[in-house]
Amino acid sequence: MPELPEVETVVRTLAPHVLKRKILSMDEVRPCSVSESLPCSKAVGFVVAEVFRRGKFIVARLERAGCEELFWVTHLRMTGSLMAYEGAMRESEAASPGKYTRCVMELGARAGEATAEDGCRIVFNDVRTFGRIFLGNRKALEEWSSWKKLGPEPLSMGEDAFAKAIRGKRTIKSVLMDQHVIAGIGNIYADESLFAARIHPARTADSLSVEDKKRLYVELVRLLLLSIEECGSSIRDYHDANGNVGAFQNHFMVYGRGGEACHSCGARLKKVVLNGRGTVYCPRCQKKSR
Ligand SMILES: [Zn+2]
Repeated sequence: MPELPEVETVVRTLAPHVLKRKILSMDEVRPCSVSESLPCSKAVGFVVAEVFRRGKFIVARLERAGCEELFWVTHLRMTGSLMAYEGAMRESEAASPGKYTRCVMELGARAGEATAEDGCRIVFNDVRTFGRIFLGNRKALEEWSSWKKLGPEPLSMGEDAFAKAIRGKRTIKSVLMDQHVIAGIGNIYADESLFAARIHPARTADSLSVEDKKRLYVELVRLLLLSIEECGSSIRDYHDANGNVGAFQNHFMVYGRGGEACHSCGARLKKVVLNGRGTVYCPRCQKKSR
C-alpha cells in the first residue's frame, strides 16, 4: 500500500498537471465514492487551487467563483493509482478507461494556454478496488470519519509530540501504523524505522525509553525524507502520476526480506505476523529485552 512517501510523490507529480486547471468532467466509471461523498459530477466547473497530502490521502482543493470550496480526496489503498495524460496523450490507449478504471477527470486548458485542446486527463485505476474517493465541502471533510480522526503528520509533529503519542500496551509496530496516532505510516516504514532504531517490533509502546523514542523518531523522519527523495518505494503497482517508479525499495533493510541475511550483522531475518501484518526484523539487531 502506498504510504506517506509514495503518496507525497504522487501529489508532487500530480500537481503540475492539475493546478489552475478547470474540471470539465468527472466521471465515476465504477462506484468508488464513500457514502459521505457528493456525486463526482459536482466538481465540474471548479478549478484546482491546491494539491496536498494528509496522511495517505491525496487532496485537491477546488475553487469556483460564487461557490463554496470543495475538496476532492483520494485514498489509493492497496493498488490504486492516479495517472496524468497531457494534450494528445489523452488519445493514447493507456489513457482510455479500462477494466480497472474507477474515475476519469478531464481538465481544460489554463487561462493563457494556447488552445482549448491543451487539457489533461487524470485516470484513477484500481485493480483491487479498495481505493476510495471523497468529494465535499470543508465541513463535510472535517466530519468525515476517515479524516477527522487522523493523527499528526510525522514530518512536522516534532520529537516531543511523537514521544507523547507513543504509549500504551499495544506493540510499537501497531502503534506506529495506527493512523489515529500518527498519519501516513504503514508496514514498510514501520518495519524499516524499527530496524534502523534497533527496536523489536513486538515490544509494547510503553516499554520504550525516552532514548528509544527519540532514536525511533529520528530514524523514521530520516527514512521518510530519504524515500521522498527516491520518489517512494515501488512494490506491486505503485507509480507516480507520470508512470515513473520509485527507488526506495533498493534501500530496504528488512521489509520483504524475511529469511535473508541482515545487511548489518548477517543474522537470518525473521518474519512473523504481528497484529495481522507480516513483520520482518533482525533477531540479533532488534533484541526484545533491550
Ligand atoms: Zn542484524
